[in-house]
Amino acid sequence: MLALQGAFREHRRHLEAVGARVRDVRLPVDLDGLDGLVLPGGESTTMGRLLDAFGLWEPIRNLHGRGGVLWGTCAGAILLATDILGAPPQDDGRQRSLGLLDATVQRNAFGRQVDSFTTALEVEGFESPLEAVFIRAPAFVRTGAGVQVLSALAGQPVLVQSGRVLASAFHPELTVDRRLHMQFLRMVTQQVMV
Ligand code: GLN
Repeated sequence: MLALQGAFREHRRHLEAVGARVRDVRLPVDLDGLDGLVLPGGESTTMGRLLDAFGLWEPIRNLHGRGGVLWGTCAGAILLATDILGAPPQDDGRQRSLGLLDATVQRNAFGRQVDSFTTALEVEGFESPLEAVFIRAPAFVRTGAGVQVLSALAGQPVLVQSGRVLASAFHPELTVDRRLHMQFLRMVTQQVMV
């Protein structure tokens, strides 16, 4: 669990509840021996600065390179994408990312904090809708050829998967439904058994 900023405690609780062994990651050494990493929601520019400060960009890319599974939610999803729209003007509209998900994310695609909302999403492979909390959420406005759209809202992809990378625009750690945490854990387990 990337534990620099944002809703990492809530994620950790859900991951532990579905049976995962979880470690907080703040330094590169914390990634040693991990099979997967969750990047939480929060504020992607702040988290990016902390990734700079703790030298975590390359080590996270390496975790993915050696077979690790990554799941980014909201700000975490922004950090995974190859292209980001809506980066702050003071940063020249540019924002660093891991570039492990071939997609363009539009930050704050569903409006500001006051426009936050909860909705029921149809998710590929789920038997019933998933309650999803959107807080200044991004949307995947372009998805590359290898990216599977697992859920969309108003025509905008909001849950996608590309190989060992899962990304959601919303916050599954803020609701009681743990199906996505189980899905992430299944991805990790399958990967470990390969
Ligand atoms: N809008 C935030 C960002 O761009 C993400 C919000 C969230 O994670 N809830 O980083």
